Amino acid sequence: MCSSRMFSLLDKTLYVRDLDLWVDSMKPRTRCYVSHGHADHARPHDIVVTSTANAMVCAHRFGRRAPAKQTAFPELAAVERRDVVWETHAFNEPWRDGDHELTLFSAGHVLGSSQLLIEGESGRHVYTGDFKLEPSYTAEMPEVKRCDSVLMECTYGKPQYVFPPRAEIAGQMVAWARAALEEGAVPMFFAYSLGKAQEAMAILGAGGIPLAAHGAVASMSRVYEDAGVALPPYERYDAETFDGMRALVWPPSGRALPKAVRGKVVRTAALTGWVLGRNGFGGRTDVGFPLSDHADYPSLLRYVELAQPKKVWLNHGGRDFVGRLRKLGVDAEYLEANQQLALF
Ligand SMILES: [Zn+2]
Repeated sequence: MCSSRMFSLLDKTLYVRDLDLWVDSMKPRTRCYVSHGHADHARPHDIVVTSTANAMVCAHRFGRRAPAKQTAFPELAAVERRDVVWETHAFNEPWRDGDHELTLFSAGHVLGSSQLLIEGESGRHVYTGDFKLEPSYTAEMPEVKRCDSVLMECTYGKPQYVFPPRAEIAGQMVAWARAALEEGAVPMFFAYSLGKAQEAMAILGAGGIPLAAHGAVASMSRVYEDAGVALPPYERYDAETFDGMRALVWPPSGRALPKAVRGKVVRTAALTGWVLGRNGFGGRTDVGFPLSDHADYPSLLRYVELAQPKKVWLNHGGRDFVGRLRKLGVDAEYLEANQQLALF
């Protein structure tokens, strides 16, 4: 009974037929579970089912979206003009939905990121969303629950992705930034404004590095602080007042060097697990630190070991991870769109 598929693909989107619930849909839906606030998972819907903290993150992100940016998603414009109804749930406080019980629990990926557990007659089914197992400085402690089936991400599902301990990476980041400042250079860290940037700020701040954050990073950091996350002191980057004596935390999309550092010596650092593989940052930065908010390869295997699922479904990341799991004796399969026809 446990082999039944709780999660299917419909309209290229994850969908739970039993609950009429969409999962991390890029198109506006009547009711959708949103695992976390990154742009490849979070969109406004009529009803957004999510964690309390992620509702704060998403409300901030959706609220800031300028109408001009909606053109890539014409159907989004209509929805965004309507108010989102937030159905929020605290971690590990189950609720009933028809014949099923649902529970959100921490994914440890970014603030408010959750996994979804659906329990019913067919067993316990988990959707991990993006997750990691290592504790971080600014996201909730991740959790793994025993389940019968799991639909998991496998972004770093290749053996070369073994991240050093976070404390080791943190030490290297601080030493690199300190050396740059001592030599009169501006250390500049490229980090996504949700999650990675706050981790970088916590690490650098704890190491005594003064900080200036890009506006997008600073405003998301305010959401973190409102949610109770302690961040070190930082100033919002201002071209007029920036003195070049602080490390800059900058979103990767804002690659153009800010005005105030032109003419200064700038050293750039990428923060991504991809620096360990061929997909690195293409040499666009001086250095890279493998600070990731995803599980590395050993953590993906560890997750399966801890959750002990009878079936593992994969739908993100490299397909060869399916083969690697099968070799280890795990019943793993890639979720295909056409499987929706054979669902129940
Ligand atoms: Zn993410």
